Amino acid sequence: MTAVEPRIDTITVLNPATGAVAGTVPVDDAETVAAKARELRLFQPEWEAIGPQGRRKWMLKWQEWILDNKDHITEVLMAETGKSHWDANIEPTLVADGINYWSGNAEEFLADKNPSAHSPLFKVKKFTTAYRPQPLVGVITPWNFPFAMPGLDIPPALAAGCAVLLKPSEVTPLSGVEFVRGWTEIGAPPVLGLATGYGATGAALIDNVDYLQFTGSTATGKKVAVACAERLIPFSLELGGKDPAIVLADADLDRAANGITWGALFNSGQVCVSTERVYVEAPVYDEFVAKLAAKVRNVKQGQESGRDYTYDIGAMATGAQRDIVERHIAESVAAGAKVLTGGKPTGQGTFFQPTVLTDVTHDMPCIVEETFGPTLPVIKVADEDEAVRLANDSVYGLSATVWTGDVKRGERVARRLECGAVNVNDAMTNVFAFALPMGGWKESGFGYRAGGPNGILKFCRPQAITSPRLPTQKSELLWYSSPKRQGLFALAAMRAFAARGGRGSGRRG
Ligand code: NDP
Repeated sequence: MTAVEPRIDTITVLNPATGAVAGTVPVDDAETVAAKARELRLFQPEWEAIGPQGRRKWMLKWQEWILDNKDHITEVLMAETGKSHWDANIEPTLVADGINYWSGNAEEFLADKNPSAHSPLFKVKKFTTAYRPQPLVGVITPWNFPFAMPGLDIPPALAAGCAVLLKPSEVTPLSGVEFVRGWTEIGAPPVLGLATGYGATGAALIDNVDYLQFTGSTATGKKVAVACAERLIPFSLELGGKDPAIVLADADLDRAANGITWGALFNSGQVCVSTERVYVEAPVYDEFVAKLAAKVRNVKQGQESGRDYTYDIGAMATGAQRDIVERHIAESVAAGAKVLTGGKPTGQGTFFQPTVLTDVTHDMPCIVEETFGPTLPVIKVADEDEAVRLANDSVYGLSATVWTGDVKRGERVARRLECGAVNVNDAMTNVFAFALPMGGWKESGFGYRAGGPNGILKFCRPQAITSPRLPTQKSELLWYSSPKRQGLFALAAMRAFAARGGRGSGRRG
């Protein structure tokens, strides 16, 4: 986010790996955002009315468009982020997979529920909980996965029957353009729109939507929460992380070194669930660190001009982000940390060498702050208890990994960790598992980001509907015209209460 936003009406997007111009987008002002929101609202009732199966038809066409245009989308992603082909290519595939999951499960997840009455007095009534979509959902996304981030949040909202207005990061708006272009090109109902611009455009979006889904930094997330509170609209935040990895002495050290290297360096470490701290039990510390450094040295860094897979990771998405990584390393080294490998910016553009740091203490910036870069600080711990204590010693609580030869032990350690997800002997699996809940604890999030039925239901307003089971009566128990019956109601309620043995012993209705 820029501190002072320039008063210009176009954003020119540059490839951070090469400096080449990748494209331009307009800056939408508040009036334009409001007009886009009004138009989306016009079409939402019809979108809700066609039901989950009608929506699935359009969503599968959109999925097909994404797969047909996968190569082009990958090129756009590489051009505006500086990613390697490998890192960029995964985004459209992930989105296509999600569209299938959400559109395929929407009918079941959105089905009415008919809870039974808590009291015999209501047996004459039919109770229904219906799930009605929020009319307009706003989605604000960051620059690290400019196609996959909208792709995690928008398909469940569309499947729920909402209209959606997307505001991508100013740094990477071109993938957002592609995301919405696909929807328009298949001729789908115009319930997915795009607003491009700086933070002010995001703020204007919040002023015009009924629900806000935000992914980005914890600092901006707090501002967004205040803006949503002022409008009393519901919201969900997916924020920063400082994910720990715990390597226990009984782990397969080759697998752990391999998995942690990937978990930390994928997308040049610019992932909210990147491994950013490693705690290793003392007996295997030296051996593990040697294996980790060897793996990290082997990672190939660069950006292909073609469609081969020459490089593992690319550049940092912005010069500012590269500077944060450099600062964390410099300040940690000044405080006594040692660089085992990497440690410097490299070549042209915003590339930064994959880095392993040792002799790290728990107060250094590389351990405390979100780095969001290709760094791996490693700390030796006495035992599992110390590893768990240090892993939990963070304001963040997004996810973690545990590496052990005993899976049951890994699951036990998982339950001691204060974070929203734990992967045993793997990294990031939960992100690709749509049936699981995804949401950060502590300062890593608010609300529920994705996963399973709640991934769709969070975009809905539950509506209670009561209707008579029996032919319509002249009056009802509680009506003014039936004072006697009110007495009967109170008596029946008291009897039911007594029959259950008093407060708290009854079944909840
Ligand atoms: P921000 O959180 O500032 O930006 C995320 C999104 O919010 C962008 O689309 C941004 O627009 C928008 N935005 C900014 N200000 C407002 C506002 N007042 N109201 C509504 N929307 C707003 O992230 P940064 O790009 O500045 O990155 C900073 C740090 O955040 C990184 O160094 C990293 O640590 C962390 N980060 C975490 C991510 C995650 O997935 N958890 C993803 C990206 C960054 P615009 O870009 O136009 O300013």
